[in-house]
Amino acid sequence: MGIALIAHGGAGKWRPGSDDDALAGLTAAVEAGRRILAAGGSSLDAVCATVVALEDNPIYNAGTGAVLNFDGFCELDACVMESREARAGAVSGLQRAKNPILVARKVMEETDHVMLTGDGAQRFARVMGFPDHDPITPERRADWFDKRNRLDEVLGKHALRMRRFLQDHPEYAGGTVGAAAVDSHGVLAAATSTGGVTLKMVGRVGDSPVPGAGNYACARVAASATGTGEFVLRSLATRAVAERVERGESLAASMEAVLEGLGRDYDADVGLIAVDATGMPVARHRTRDMPHAWFCGDGPVAARMRA
Ligand code: ASP
Repeated sequence: MGIALIAHGGAGKWRPGSDDDALAGLTAAVEAGRRILAAGGSSLDAVCATVVALEDNPIYNAGTGAVLNFDGFCELDACVMESREARAGAVSGLQRAKNPILVARKVMEETDHVMLTGDGAQRFARVMGFPDHDPITPERRADWFDKRNRLDEVLGKHALRMRRFLQDHPEYAGGTVGAAAVDSHGVLAAATSTGGVTLKMVGRVGDSPVPGAGNYACARVAASATGTGEFVLRSLATRAVAERVERGESLAASMEAVLEGLGRDYDADVGLIAVDATGMPVARHRTRDMPHAWFCGDGPVAARMRA
């Protein structure tokens, strides 16, 4: 079986001058996953190690450095899924966690549940031994002040619908992280972690923690989505890719068809990464940028801003 791993750093429009940092962070994260897979380790361990490296890098919108919600605090979402027995674990609305993906993995491994949210997720994280961690960085706090000022200018106090504002300011989107891998035993896994969309309403849950929407793994495909999560939730995009692959379409054609549908139906700003069971990594997106890095077999890690 060929091993492979692909990771993304979020669909959107990265700020001018940030490409090198985005690609360096992804390359280092994929190298961490590659070491595990090359030593015969599991795809689950590999995608978690990759996502942890990205969560710990403050330039991405996940873990430390996640974006703030409308009220100015973080609500972190994450999901991990493995093809064996379709096991999945997820958290949403975590406020004080360093690595939400590891809490999601504990939900999968240590409970009867698939998703824990809000206070319950936070309490569970503590019980599992994860110390409280403030993910807010000074840069994100400053961004938040800037956005709130502009938002008040544009929308006044009626700020329940942020999408238009974010369309006009695509530089504020992106930075979610995700990884998909297949290991030497043919087991597939996917992991996705995010602070969600910037200025989201308190309590908003996106696609990233929902299996089949922002994150999915089955015997044929592992995939992670990024972009405005409401579109991914409504289309169950990662599961939709898997269904096409199960019907015999190639992975690339399946991803293109799903993104084409998202474009037709919603003009959605969405991207996808995936690997199939043969060890083929693919990235596709409808946004200007989606930094991603990958390797397959014993090849080197490659990284690009655009597919
Ligand atoms: N999909 C994420 C969410 O909606 C955001 C992103 O990928 O940029 O929460």
